[in-house]
Amino acid sequence: MNLNGLDYELIEAAKKAIRDNYDSIRWWHTVGAAVRTKSGKIYVGVNCDSVSHGSCAEVIAIGSAITAGEREFDTVVAVLGGENEKILPPCGNCRQMMYSYDKSINVIVSEDTKVNVLELLPYPCD
Ligand SMILES: [Zn+2]
Repeated sequence: MNLNGLDYELIEAAKKAIRDNYDSIRWWHTVGAAVRTKSGKIYVGVNCDSVSHGSCAEVIAIGSAITAGEREFDTVVAVLGGENEKILPPCGNCRQMMYSYDKSINVIVSEDTKVNVLELLPYPCD
């Protein structure tokens, strides 16, 4: 369903990804993400961290889509799991990665707001 310009099916997919995989102790999986491609498909991911390095859930979700051959993205959203479940704006690295793959990508940054990635990254590295 798409009310007020927000893709609620996408938000629910991100919530399901982290609800199914939430683990704040052993694997540090605390964020889920979902990306809708311009072909209409949804890909999901959760963050993968270790003591020395980590990858954000958005990177994993977009990477999954890329692995499936997708290159054009419509909207992405990330959700913090656990007791304080909420939509999270992307980190700086993810903003640049999203911009680099598709400058037209939209990002759901809160329960009622969707913006183009350029609004989150006014001076991108090209
Ligand atoms: Zn990130």
